[in-house]
Amino acid sequence: MNKKTHFGYKEVQESEKSKFVGEVFTSVSENYDLMNDAMSFGMHRLWKRILVELAAVGKNDVILDIASGTGDIPKLISKEYPETTIFMTDINYDMLNGGRNRAINESFSSNCKFCLLNGEQLPFKNKTFDLITIGFGLRNFTNKEKGIKEMRRSLKKNGKLLVLEFSKPVNPFFSKVYDWYSFNILPKLGSLLANDSDSYQYLAESIRMHPDQELLKNMIIESGFKDCKFYNLLNGVVSIHIAYND
Ligand code: SAM
Repeated sequence: MNKKTHFGYKEVQESEKSKFVGEVFTSVSENYDLMNDAMSFGMHRLWKRILVELAAVGKNDVILDIASGTGDIPKLISKEYPETTIFMTDINYDMLNGGRNRAINESFSSNCKFCLLNGEQLPFKNKTFDLITIGFGLRNFTNKEKGIKEMRRSLKKNGKLLVLEFSKPVNPFFSKVYDWYSFNILPKLGSLLANDSDSYQYLAESIRMHPDQELLKNMIIESGFKDCKFYNLLNGVVSIHIAYND
């Protein structure tokens, strides 16, 4: 079957999307942390801290962080809750390897396990985790519904899912300013700081193609989660969805 999907604004074969996404993250991996700080004026740090606060982590929780990249979320959890077990995972070797090296250098590797995996096909038994987190990763999945169902399958009863992702600004004027910033400034920043404007053009496009807050909430509920709600941050530029396995 030749099913199509989106890679930014381009239509591609489903079977090809993860290769294209892989190329983007291999290309940005070296400058990923610098670019995150520059693009968001450092705000991504606060958003991730809010996610960890909302997660209300239990002392001995077994946690899966999907699409960990360079490991910001595992780092926050590990430093605050050293008795947890955290699976730090990513589909991209360069991103995960950068995260693993950082975990060793910044002393948060002792309770982390590192797994190269696709979040759409989790290699874990049913009901393994107390908590699953994913920050700015779901947008890149080829089949988001499949990924969310896998997360539900891998969560224990009443286990928690937290999804931090770009979303849709609520205020129309702010939305226009944000569009201008995304399509004019972001690719230039990418070019200036990372010599890579295409990846940051993809970033802006992939955000526009991602379901907005309400749609994502419905997808999560349709995948079988209960008590799903979301919090808008920065007028909805980013949102955090929280939901529980039944
Ligand atoms: N979570 C980190 C953060 O918030 O800084 C990294 C986010 S980065 C924007 C997105 C990450 O998702 C990349 O490291 C990429 O390799 C990973 N990714 C993309 N598709 C994935 C998939 N299907 N399964 C697992 N990871 C994936």
